[in-house]
Amino acid sequence: MQIYDGDMPFGSNESMTVNDEDGVADASRLTPLKSRGPAPISQARLLKLSVLPLFYKLSGQRVAIAGSSRAAAWKVELLAATGAQVDVYGATPDAQILAVASQASNVCVFERHWSANDFAKAVLVIAEAEEEDEAIALQQAAAVAGAHLNIIDKPQWSSFQFGSIVERSPLVIGISTDGGAPVFAQSIRARLETLLPDGLRNWASAAKAWRPRVTSLGLDIHARRKIWEKFTRLALAEPGRVPADHDFASLVEGVDREPAASAKTGIVMLVGAGPGDPELLTLRAVRALQSADVVLFDDLVSQQVLDLARRESDKISVGKRGFKPSCTQEDICDLMISLAREGKYVVRLKGGDPMVFGRANEEIAALEAVGIPVSVVPGVTAASAAAASLGISLTERNLARRLQFVTAHARGGLIPDDLNWRALADPLATTIVYMGVRTLPEFCARLVREGLSADMPAVMVERASQPDERHFAGTLTTLPGIVANAGVKGPALTIIGPAALDRRIVKNIS
Ligand code: SAH
Repeated sequence: MQIYDGDMPFGSNESMTVNDEDGVADASRLTPLKSRGPAPISQARLLKLSVLPLFYKLSGQRVAIAGSSRAAAWKVELLAATGAQVDVYGATPDAQILAVASQASNVCVFERHWSANDFAKAVLVIAEAEEEDEAIALQQAAAVAGAHLNIIDKPQWSSFQFGSIVERSPLVIGISTDGGAPVFAQSIRARLETLLPDGLRNWASAAKAWRPRVTSLGLDIHARRKIWEKFTRLALAEPGRVPADHDFASLVEGVDREPAASAKTGIVMLVGAGPGDPELLTLRAVRALQSADVVLFDDLVSQQVLDLARRESDKISVGKRGFKPSCTQEDICDLMISLAREGKYVVRLKGGDPMVFGRANEEIAALEAVGIPVSVVPGVTAASAAAASLGISLTERNLARRLQFVTAHARGGLIPDDLNWRALADPLATTIVYMGVRTLPEFCARLVREGLSADMPAVMVERASQPDERHFAGTLTTLPGIVANAGVKGPALTIIGPAALDRRIVKNIS
């Protein structure tokens, strides 16, 4: 088994990122040189960079805004938020600018047109100009003042541009298309917004606060890097949690010792892998996978989902397969405990939702009994995926007021003997049968004996959400024969009840 020690292998980075805020990662970013001594790197390391993103501390600096229409209002608000002194020049200021000025002590509005003197000591000038003449006048005045100039919506006349911003201060991301398509940049921003939970700002603040403390420990470059890697994993795994002092203690604990002893307790996340299609993973599941040191996965988990796990993570199959050789539940619990005790971030990846026929309780209890922190990330259960594929609602007013999930597989492969058949024979219910391919004939026959109509619709969905998904529609009488002829192999469930009757399903089969 590969042991991950928190360090990237030397020279293995693939990123083109050249900026390193920590200044500790550079050593591993260089390709190791052979013994013939230093050699210049001949190939170009960056493609042409159309603009350089800079992150400018404006607090206490002066910014002049030449123009006061609605278009300038947002810039006034943005710049005021940076703590700059913002002076706005315009004969008829927009109401929004006046509103910002009335609330922010660092915004001043001068109700007149700008003049060149207004830019003295300004580091940035943001202006409105429609005509080239005025743009040239602005450029000259800005140059005299030694200020950079942005003319709103006119990149061709500007020396710098504003990007779209994802704001999780002190974590700030700027996005630019170099004036090509601001709407495109905004859509990219919207994507990043969904990927990066708001709570990351707390972690970014903690990083700032902890940085001097880490530095004062006097650790070497590798130990410092390890701390920040651990920090990052924690932040990405639990972005919603406010970091506390005990997190700092766990980060620095033992980093200067050997990797195996470096952290006392890892964590375990029970993560729902959904029914197979990786698109059906939750964002939290993806984040957990990308932070994992070890992924313990069931047979039901699809390869495409596993592919999303951090590349360096160990991926261990702990499949529990009906009627085939399997890991015992005890083995799985023991393995989780021993990995977590090595300080690992363990993702226990379960098909569908971990809390539906997943024996999650036993795993949670085993971990809690020995004091290992455990949390659960829900997933899309197979029934939801099957209903979505069929385009049927599992509940329906007047027809199906009750929705029940049931397993048709007990120890020994038999139908469990403690099922509530009265509830299952309710003609106004939708029943979803998990783990019920083998026992389908017996299950359907029993439902009829318990009083359900022999013509009650029943549909089986095999490998819901996967590319080779199949549907088989029939009734309690006909479905077992249809399924037997079709040779169902993959995981499959059966939906029984009035809700399972839908013209679309019948069409799928014919
Ligand atoms: N926790 C899982 C269920 C695990 S029990 C969930 O929430 O979906 C295993 C059973 O789930 C299988 O026997 C089958 O009945 C059902 N199942 C799992 N994945 C499935 C899929 N992609 N399509 C149809 N049924 C599935």
